[in-house]
Amino acid sequence: MPADLIPDLAEVRRLNAGFEPAAPVELLAWAYARFGHRAAIGTSFQASGLVLLHQAVSAGLPLPCFTIDTDLLFPETVELRRQVEKFFGIEIEVLRPELSLEQQANDFGPELWKRQPDTCCTLRKVLPLQKRLATLDAWITGLRRDQSGTRHGIDRLELYRFDPLRDKFVLKINPLAGWSREQVWGYVHEHQIPYNPLNERGFRSIGCQPCTRAVGGQEDERAGRWTGFEKTECGLHTFMGTHV
Ligand code: SF4
Repeated sequence: MPADLIPDLAEVRRLNAGFEPAAPVELLAWAYARFGHRAAIGTSFQASGLVLLHQAVSAGLPLPCFTIDTDLLFPETVELRRQVEKFFGIEIEVLRPELSLEQQANDFGPELWKRQPDTCCTLRKVLPLQKRLATLDAWITGLRRDQSGTRHGIDRLELYRFDPLRDKFVLKINPLAGWSREQVWGYVHEHQIPYNPLNERGFRSIGCQPCTRAVGGQEDERAGRWTGFEKTECGLHTFMGTHV
């Protein structure tokens, strides 16, 4: 069974029904009231994550925030992290892979992302996230239903069996599930939040430099990721399987 703080499936269902029309900040406030610092916002500084940070800070909710630096990010993304910290007056925890790029090249061969992107994502993204999630009850994300076909069905609250051996659960909270891309960008501009300049050069979802390209206007927001592979997700949102 989930730990006391983490709702069981019946409560998750009740909460989802109640939260469906709720503003994102209501979910953030609920998460902080229930979990305190055992809830954290994870962001890669896409526009949705910036909205969440703005709403949390504006509401005086000191939720921890973390990001993953794979050592392969665009310099613009690394610079944006500094700007965001300054803009919001917060410190963002940076999770890093255990292997340096050199160690990874020694162990797995050079440019692993060109041959085995799933393995590369596991090493550089999923493992650092797993380590952090082991310390949390709730993980707050900027996922939205309109981002791609794989995200159409997401709920605001999703319960995952994070570690079956220890019966450890984690609650994923998606406060912006029902927001559209237009709403998100309208909010970012209205509040003059700094954003990634690559967004104005045709990049609509920005990940690691080797695996991200600009996309055309009619393509899915995430169509520019892992071109040439079947892959559409890095694993951060899929490694725990389907929610219970
Ligand atoms: S997005 Fe590409 S470079 Fe980044 S961790 Fe995944 S495979 Fe490696």
